[in-house]
Amino acid sequence: MANYSPKITTAQIKMIQTVRRSAGIDDDVYSEMKKSVGVSSTTELDQRRFQELLRRISKLQKNASRRRSQQETGSRQPYKKVHSSAYKSGMHLAPAEDKALMLSKIEAILTDLSLPWSYADATAKRMFGVDLLRWCDETQTYKVLQALAVYQKRKAGKMEEAAFYIKELRSDGCQCGGRKKSGQSLCYGCYKKLPADLAKALWRKLGNGYEQAYDRAVAWLTGEE
Ligand SMILES: [Zn+2]
Repeated sequence: MANYSPKITTAQIKMIQTVRRSAGIDDDVYSEMKKSVGVSSTTELDQRRFQELLRRISKLQKNASRRRSQQETGSRQPYKKVHSSAYKSGMHLAPAEDKALMLSKIEAILTDLSLPWSYADATAKRMFGVDLLRWCDETQTYKVLQALAVYQKRKAGKMEEAAFYIKELRSDGCQCGGRKKSGQSLCYGCYKKLPADLAKALWRKLGNGYEQAYDRAVAWLTGEE
Protein backbone atom coordinates (compact mmCIF):
# COMPACT_ATOMS: atom_id res chain seq x y z
CA MET A 1 0.00 0.00 0.00
CA ALA A 2 1.23 3.45 -0.87
CA ASN A 3 2.28 5.76 1.94
CA TYR A 4 -0.36 8.25 2.97
CA SER A 5 0.33 11.75 1.65
CA PRO A 6 -2.05 14.59 2.59
CA LYS A 7 -3.92 16.62 -0.03
CA ILE A 8 -2.52 19.97 -1.03
CA THR A 9 -3.90 23.20 0.40
CA THR A 10 -5.83 25.89 -1.44
CA ALA A 11 -2.75 28.12 -1.28
CA GLN A 12 -0.68 25.40 -2.92
CA ILE A 13 -3.27 25.00 -5.69
CA LYS A 14 -3.07 28.74 -6.37
CA MET A 15 0.69 28.63 -6.20
CA ILE A 16 1.15 25.83 -8.70
CA GLN A 17 -1.19 27.60 -11.12
CA THR A 18 0.89 30.74 -10.80
CA VAL A 19 4.09 28.78 -11.24
CA ARG A 20 2.98 27.01 -14.35
CA ARG A 21 1.62 30.20 -15.89
CA SER A 22 4.84 32.07 -15.19
CA ALA A 23 6.70 29.12 -16.68
CA GLY A 24 4.60 29.60 -19.83
CA ILE A 25 3.08 26.13 -19.69
CA ASP A 26 -0.20 26.06 -21.61
CA ASP A 27 -3.30 24.04 -20.71
CA ASP A 28 -2.51 21.11 -22.98
CA VAL A 29 1.02 20.65 -21.71
CA TYR A 30 -0.10 21.14 -18.11
CA SER A 31 -2.79 18.54 -18.56
CA GLU A 32 -0.16 16.09 -19.84
CA MET A 33 2.04 16.88 -16.88
CA LYS A 34 -0.81 16.26 -14.45
CA LYS A 35 -1.43 12.88 -16.08
CA SER A 36 2.27 12.09 -15.80
CA VAL A 37 2.05 12.33 -12.00
CA GLY A 38 -1.22 10.39 -11.96
CA VAL A 39 -3.95 13.00 -11.53
CA SER A 40 -6.42 14.62 -13.91
CA SER A 41 -6.96 17.81 -11.94
CA THR A 42 -4.79 20.04 -9.74
CA THR A 43 -7.15 19.60 -6.79
CA GLU A 44 -6.44 15.87 -6.78
CA LEU A 45 -2.77 16.40 -6.03
CA ASP A 46 -1.41 15.18 -2.75
CA GLN A 47 1.77 16.60 -1.22
CA ARG A 48 4.04 14.04 -2.82
CA ARG A 49 2.59 14.49 -6.32
CA PHE A 50 2.53 18.24 -5.82
CA GLN A 51 6.29 18.29 -5.15
CA GLU A 52 6.92 16.01 -8.10
CA LEU A 53 4.84 18.18 -10.42
CA LEU A 54 6.66 21.31 -9.22
CA ARG A 55 9.96 19.60 -9.91
CA ARG A 56 8.87 18.71 -13.43
CA ILE A 57 7.63 22.22 -14.13
CA SER A 58 10.90 23.71 -13.00
CA LYS A 59 12.85 21.22 -15.10
CA LEU A 60 10.77 22.08 -18.14
CA GLN A 61 11.30 25.75 -17.45
CA LYS A 62 15.07 25.30 -17.25
CA ASN A 63 15.20 23.35 -20.49
CA ALA A 64 13.04 25.92 -22.25
CA SER A 65 15.26 28.74 -21.04
CA ARG A 66 18.39 26.95 -22.16
CA ARG A 67 16.87 26.61 -25.62
CA ARG A 68 15.75 30.21 -25.60
CA SER A 69 19.10 31.59 -24.53
CA GLN A 70 20.72 29.71 -27.38
CA GLN A 71 18.50 31.53 -29.82
CA GLU A 72 17.84 34.71 -27.88
CA THR A 73 16.16 37.23 -30.15
CA GLY A 74 13.74 39.03 -27.81
CA SER A 75 14.32 42.60 -26.65
CA ARG A 76 13.68 41.91 -22.98
CA GLN A 77 16.91 41.08 -21.26
CA PRO A 78 17.19 38.44 -18.58
CA TYR A 79 18.32 39.53 -15.15
CA LYS A 80 21.77 38.48 -14.20
CA LYS A 81 23.58 41.47 -12.85
CA VAL A 82 23.16 40.86 -9.13
CA HIS A 83 26.06 38.56 -8.31
CA SER A 84 25.70 35.17 -9.89
CA SER A 85 22.54 34.53 -7.94
CA ALA A 86 20.11 35.08 -10.80
CA TYR A 87 20.16 31.53 -12.15
CA LYS A 88 19.17 29.85 -8.91
CA SER A 89 16.29 32.27 -8.51
CA GLY A 90 15.14 31.83 -12.10
CA MET A 91 15.92 35.48 -12.82
CA HIS A 92 18.12 34.65 -15.79
CA LEU A 93 14.86 34.19 -17.70
CA ALA A 94 13.21 37.13 -19.40
CA PRO A 95 10.39 38.21 -17.07
CA ALA A 96 6.68 38.10 -17.82
CA GLU A 97 5.51 41.38 -19.33
CA ASP A 98 3.26 42.32 -16.40
CA LYS A 99 6.06 41.89 -13.87
CA ALA A 100 9.02 43.15 -15.88
CA LEU A 101 9.00 46.69 -14.51
CA MET A 102 8.59 45.59 -10.90
CA LEU A 103 11.34 43.02 -11.25
CA SER A 104 13.70 45.58 -12.70
CA LYS A 105 12.96 47.84 -9.71
CA ILE A 106 13.59 44.96 -7.36
CA GLU A 107 16.84 44.26 -9.16
CA ALA A 108 17.89 47.88 -8.73
CA ILE A 109 17.23 47.73 -4.98
CA LEU A 110 19.12 44.45 -4.62
CA THR A 111 22.05 45.90 -6.54
CA ASP A 112 22.01 49.00 -4.34
CA LEU A 113 22.08 46.88 -1.20
CA SER A 114 24.50 44.27 -2.63
CA LEU A 115 21.97 41.54 -1.95
CA PRO A 116 21.47 38.40 -4.06
CA TRP A 117 18.18 37.40 -5.68
CA SER A 118 17.81 34.75 -3.01
CA TYR A 119 17.15 37.59 -0.55
CA ALA A 120 14.06 38.54 -2.56
CA ASP A 121 13.13 34.85 -2.74
CA ALA A 122 13.37 34.61 1.04
CA THR A 123 11.15 37.69 1.33
CA ALA A 124 8.56 36.05 -0.95
CA LYS A 125 8.79 32.86 1.08
CA ARG A 126 8.31 34.71 4.35
CA MET A 127 5.40 36.82 3.07
CA PHE A 128 3.50 34.33 0.92
CA GLY A 129 5.06 30.90 1.37
CA VAL A 130 6.20 30.99 -2.26
CA ASP A 131 9.73 29.65 -2.70
CA LEU A 132 10.86 31.91 -5.53
CA LEU A 133 10.02 35.53 -6.31
CA ARG A 134 9.85 34.32 -9.89
CA TRP A 135 6.75 32.34 -8.97
CA CYS A 136 4.90 35.21 -7.31
CA ASP A 137 1.89 36.67 -9.06
CA GLU A 138 1.66 40.35 -9.90
CA THR A 139 0.21 41.44 -6.55
CA GLN A 140 2.70 39.39 -4.55
CA THR A 141 5.60 40.72 -6.62
CA TYR A 142 4.38 44.24 -5.91
CA LYS A 143 4.27 43.55 -2.19
CA VAL A 144 7.79 42.14 -2.21
CA LEU A 145 8.92 45.27 -4.06
CA GLN A 146 7.28 47.44 -1.40
CA ALA A 147 8.88 45.49 1.42
CA LEU A 148 12.33 45.76 -0.18
CA ALA A 149 11.84 49.48 -0.81
CA VAL A 150 11.01 50.02 2.87
CA TYR A 151 14.10 48.05 3.86
CA GLN A 152 16.25 50.07 1.47
CA LYS A 153 14.92 53.34 2.87
CA ARG A 154 15.54 52.28 6.46
CA LYS A 155 19.05 51.20 5.59
CA ALA A 156 19.73 54.47 3.77
CA GLY A 157 18.58 56.33 6.89
CA LYS A 158 21.03 54.36 9.00
CA MET A 159 23.88 55.00 6.58
CA GLU A 160 23.14 58.71 6.61
CA GLU A 161 23.22 58.58 10.39
CA ALA A 162 26.52 56.70 10.40
CA ALA A 163 27.92 59.24 7.94
CA PHE A 164 27.10 62.00 10.44
CA TYR A 165 29.11 60.38 13.23
CA ILE A 166 32.02 59.61 10.94
CA LYS A 167 32.08 63.21 9.80
CA GLU A 168 32.02 64.46 13.40
CA LEU A 169 34.81 62.06 14.30
CA ARG A 170 36.99 63.14 11.37
CA SER A 171 36.46 66.86 11.78
CA ASP A 172 38.80 68.99 13.87
CA GLY A 173 35.96 70.96 15.44
CA CYS A 174 34.71 69.93 18.88
CA GLN A 175 31.06 70.20 19.86
CA CYS A 176 32.04 73.02 22.27
CA GLY A 177 33.19 75.15 19.33
CA GLY A 178 36.86 74.60 20.18
CA ARG A 179 39.33 72.51 18.25
CA LYS A 180 39.88 68.80 18.63
CA LYS A 181 42.08 66.22 16.99
CA SER A 182 40.60 64.51 13.96
CA GLY A 183 39.83 60.93 14.91
CA GLN A 184 38.86 61.86 18.45
CA SER A 185 35.28 62.48 19.51
CA LEU A 186 35.90 65.57 21.63
CA CYS A 187 38.61 68.05 22.60
CA TYR A 188 40.70 67.13 25.61
CA GLY A 189 38.86 69.65 27.81
CA CYS A 190 35.43 68.25 27.00
CA TYR A 191 36.65 64.67 27.31
CA LYS A 192 38.10 65.35 30.77
CA LYS A 193 34.83 66.83 31.99
CA LEU A 194 32.90 63.65 31.25
CA PRO A 195 32.03 61.17 34.00
CA ALA A 196 34.18 58.06 33.64
CA ASP A 197 31.44 55.82 32.29
CA LEU A 198 30.49 58.30 29.57
CA ALA A 199 34.13 58.79 28.59
CA LYS A 200 34.72 55.07 28.48
CA ALA A 201 31.65 54.50 26.28
CA LEU A 202 33.24 56.70 23.60
CA TRP A 203 35.68 53.87 22.93
CA ARG A 204 32.88 51.71 21.60
CA LYS A 205 32.78 50.96 17.91
CA LEU A 206 30.59 52.71 15.36
CA GLY A 207 27.39 50.75 14.98
CA ASN A 208 28.06 49.12 18.31
CA GLY A 209 27.22 51.76 20.88
CA TYR A 210 29.45 54.62 19.74
CA GLU A 211 26.58 56.70 18.35
CA GLN A 212 24.63 56.50 21.59
CA ALA A 213 27.77 57.19 23.62
CA TYR A 214 28.56 60.29 21.57
CA ASP A 215 24.98 61.57 21.89
CA ARG A 216 25.02 61.04 25.65
CA ALA A 217 28.41 62.74 26.01
CA VAL A 218 27.31 65.77 24.01
CA ALA A 219 24.00 65.91 25.91
CA TRP A 220 25.86 65.76 29.23
CA LEU A 221 28.35 68.43 28.19
CA THR A 222 25.64 70.78 27.00
CA GLY A 223 23.81 70.27 30.27
CA GLU A 224 20.90 68.29 28.93
CA GLU A 225 21.61 65.27 31.03
ZN1 LIG B 1 35.37 70.56 23.35
